[in-house]
Amino acid sequence: MKILVLGAGQLARMMALAGTPLNLQINAYDVNTDTIVDAISQQAIGRGLATAIADADIITAEFEHIPLPILEQCQQSGKFLPGAEAIKAGGDRRIEKQLLDNAGVKSAEYAIVNTEAQFKQAITDLGLPLVFKSALAGYDGKGQWRLKTTEQAAVLWQEIADFLAADPKQAIVAEKFVPFQREVSLIGARDANGNISVYPLTENHHVNGVLSTSVIAEATTALQQQAEQVFTKLANSLNYVGVLAIEFFEVNQQLLVNEIAPRVHNSGHWTQQGADVCQFQLHLRAICGLPLGSTDLIRPTLMINILGEDSLPNEILAISGLQLHWYGKSKRPGRKMGHINLSAVNKTELKHKFNQLIDLLPAAAFPQLTTMLEQL
Ligand code: AMP
Repeated sequence: MKILVLGAGQLARMMALAGTPLNLQINAYDVNTDTIVDAISQQAIGRGLATAIADADIITAEFEHIPLPILEQCQQSGKFLPGAEAIKAGGDRRIEKQLLDNAGVKSAEYAIVNTEAQFKQAITDLGLPLVFKSALAGYDGKGQWRLKTTEQAAVLWQEIADFLAADPKQAIVAEKFVPFQREVSLIGARDANGNISVYPLTENHHVNGVLSTSVIAEATTALQQQAEQVFTKLANSLNYVGVLAIEFFEVNQQLLVNEIAPRVHNSGHWTQQGADVCQFQLHLRAICGLPLGSTDLIRPTLMINILGEDSLPNEILAISGLQLHWYGKSKRPGRKMGHINLSAVNKTELKHKFNQLIDLLPAAAFPQLTTMLEQL
């Protein structure tokens, strides 16, 4: 079966790596260059979306910031899963908030801001502190502003007004600041028959808005159930097929949705060696109409992102239960270049191995790992 992935980054690459044993052939479409590439080698193999669509049995996506005409063209082919509606909800915070409201799912209180009057109204209605987020193209904390005091409001509005003036398609979603205890995510899949299979909740730690580590969360059954209920509501309301990721803020045992990602997700990379079926194959199974299989945890696993580095000491490979995943990308400061998965038989051993690993990694490139070790 031939699958076309919109987007030619590491997520398409890892889908290809996971799909090959099932004889699934994955090509990627680079939406910026209109090129069809081999998802693993990045070698160009053709040009043009129409050609790519004609050649594919199924079309899917590895990111949500895709130009609408491309989404429409894929949707019209009847081959696109999870489909244009889900991708749009992930790519536009206004649509996302509407989806959450319609499904009766809790998220931070919000207001849409396009004008100075709406900006002031949002401050009055929601109170401070506030987080302002660009409706489009926001990820990894980019396109965000914080407002803590009314004295800062005029200066901030000027900045936001300039941002809005530069792109007429943009809007701002003002969100009440959530004093969360931790951030967790739930990743799972829904198939075309409505079967749902989810992984255990994952606890995520960010540094400067970018994911740094993910590990299985210590979570009560009630918390896991709460997350699964949200997943079921959202996946059903979108008639979703494929892997869906939901990021939550946990506040006093209550989960508020931060955002959704209609695709495989960075916080699910640990499933490559911590779960029976990894998220990449789970997504492919769902969109290809294959049985989802088991999403059970097989061993505690920690994922550490490699940001802005293209080499690490080979000695880390001597740690048992460690796998290194490079994405074959050229080096840029802060860029997601790869990740490390570290597994152990239990939490105590995982902490021990994590400690060993921290000693071998360059400290400047991996800030705050010691703090995360203490919290594990
Ligand atoms: P996002 O791009 O929306 O995932 O935001 C990036 C990070 O900013 C999140 O992982 C949170 O740590 C933080 N953040 C976003 N929205 C809020 C909020 N409403 N309240 C508190 N922190 C937030």
